Amino acid sequence: MEDSKRRDAIQLFYLKYGFATRCLHAGEKVGQPKSKSHTNAIFQTSTFTFDDAEEGADIFAQKREGFVYTRMGNPTVMVAEAKLNALEGREIKLADPENVRVSSLLFSSGMAATSSLTYALLKPGDEFLRGAVLYGSSDHFFVDVAPKFGMKPVVVNTCKPAELKKAIKAHPKAKMLFFETPTNPLLEITDIEDAVKTVKAVNPEIVVAVDNTFATPYLQQPLNHGVDVVMHSTTKYLSGHGTIIGGALVTRHDWIKDALFKIMKDHGPSPSPFDCWLLNLGMKTLPIRVDKCCQNAMTIARFLEQHPKVEKVYYPGLESHPQHELAKRQMRLFGGMVGFDIKGGYACAQKVMNNVHIFSLAVSLGCVDSLIQHPASMTHASMAPEARAKAGIGDGHIRLSIGIEEEEDIIHDLEQALKKC
Ligand SMILES: *Cc1c(COP(=O)(O)O)cnc(C)c1O
Repeated sequence: MEDSKRRDAIQLFYLKYGFATRCLHAGEKVGQPKSKSHTNAIFQTSTFTFDDAEEGADIFAQKREGFVYTRMGNPTVMVAEAKLNALEGREIKLADPENVRVSSLLFSSGMAATSSLTYALLKPGDEFLRGAVLYGSSDHFFVDVAPKFGMKPVVVNTCKPAELKKAIKAHPKAKMLFFETPTNPLLEITDIEDAVKTVKAVNPEIVVAVDNTFATPYLQQPLNHGVDVVMHSTTKYLSGHGTIIGGALVTRHDWIKDALFKIMKDHGPSPSPFDCWLLNLGMKTLPIRVDKCCQNAMTIARFLEQHPKVEKVYYPGLESHPQHELAKRQMRLFGGMVGFDIKGGYACAQKVMNNVHIFSLAVSLGCVDSLIQHPASMTHASMAPEARAKAGIGDGHIRLSIGIEEEEDIIHDLEQALKKC
């Protein structure tokens, strides 16, 4: 059942190509039958047949490679996994091939990936550190679900190195550190390399996991900074068109991959082949989509920054962002997410949301088209008002996921909506 050798093989070869070339070509031939088809096939099947009884027995005994049942592996899923290996994979020039090998597993959702990682790494009684500001459901999972299994979360603001140092010293046996950078929705940045060094100096065994959903492997590759596991909601930029719910974990450790595969097999957070096919299609255009999103986001952040009805703009690409220098060092570009506080609070935020034409009023992010939402009443509504205030998410805060439309159209849309308040 352990099919990771094939899963891994592809990226060693592809790492010699540039990022955009890997997006297009890596993984495309993995597990595919010989055919004249230019694009890879969708294997929408639950099970796979054996040529004879001997082959079936051999595959089960792991003497021969082969697919058995889609919960445990499927060629369409594997194509997308192999592509992701090549995208998150570490730079081949840094080390010998054995040390650059990474493995990806795809999941039915980002939350399935995060929860599976937790189940794979922790047991009752284990402590773990988690970022102070996380995606809503990740927060709920760590607060409400993980403790039911005896796992003990410790909240730490990883953007503040002194706080992280204090936390790991107070919990030197913590098994995992899980955080996001940039965070949702205020786009705060953690110095990944520094965070890894800080916690591993106290506990070399700790597994550091980064939710890389907002950045994507195009803008930031945490495995290159010493991180052990990268998590993605593939629902967002990786698939890019708002068509699927999916998740991924990428790791450079075989023992973690094997532990995750056990969860996949026996807990069942497996993705659908069709969703993985759409994901693979989306990943082909990742760099040109993200380039345009970032370019548009930068222009819109500057437009908002000088607008009289805007109190404050949150975008790591702005010189006014407190961690602009760190973002510049750590990320290729600054991402497609822009936040702003509007003067006049919720009433004005409502006016803007109800009067935009190009933006869709919807949660989620990372689509080719622009989305607008209000964290305090939507994605972060379940936070206690005090916790929300402490995190700095005000009632006048609006979150934009900038798409790849013409930038002047997006600006005009915001301009006319802002006039309404
Ligand atoms: C969407 C998201 C998730 C959860 O992913 P799903 O695919 O919705 O389960 C986790 N982290 C971040 C940063 C996200 O944006």
